Amino acid sequence: MDPRIREDDRNLSTKREAHNVIRSCHFRECGNPDPEFLGRIFLTMLHRLTIPALLFLGAFTACAQKPSVVPTNGNPTHYDLSAYPNASDKVTKTDADWRALLSPESYDILRNAGTEEPFTGALLNNHEQGIYVCAACGNPLFSSATKFESGTGWPSFWAPIEADRVIEKTDNTLGISRTEVLCARCGSHLGHVFDDGPKPTGLRYCMNSAALKFVKQ
Ligand SMILES: [Zn+2]
Repeated sequence: MDPRIREDDRNLSTKREAHNVIRSCHFRECGNPDPEFLGRIFLTMLHRLTIPALLFLGAFTACAQKPSVVPTNGNPTHYDLSAYPNASDKVTKTDADWRALLSPESYDILRNAGTEEPFTGALLNNHEQGIYVCAACGNPLFSSATKFESGTGWPSFWAPIEADRVIEKTDNTLGISRTEVLCARCGSHLGHVFDDGPKPTGLRYCMNSAALKFVKQ
């Protein structure tokens, strides 16, 4: 046999013996276990358990939480709207009725296509989970799941809670062509929609706070 192989065998054998001695020293012959060795074992076990534990915890909490966007029927909402009126349940009132029903500010925006001053609306910085309904008729319009910080000074959403909850029509006032957003149920003016929003729609529904009421869920 090649003497170099025997030499390698001896070296290997020596290393194994040394390793066994170290192991037995840590656990038996030396009496008290080596605290440093146990510490390394503990850290190794912790490291091996931490990642699966975090993955499990993440999967569990992800399942337990309502997702921010549910693609069911293509609607960006996970709220049950069965207690709310249907968009097809039209509301018709006289101008005098609306004046009596709404605050002067809300009336000006909702019934007179007004616009509130930017960065003044009560719902601009609202980050609670819930539904934004029409301040005139209670029609659910937007979900907190689609609200985003547009930096414009008005509450902004990237989609209505259901497509048929709003009506969009061309608005050529102020000498520019914009798309006005109206409540599909009562016809009140809510704001405008622009095509510079975030994914997934790329739309920015720029709304007036005074045209909305927030219903916390
Ligand atoms: Zn309405």
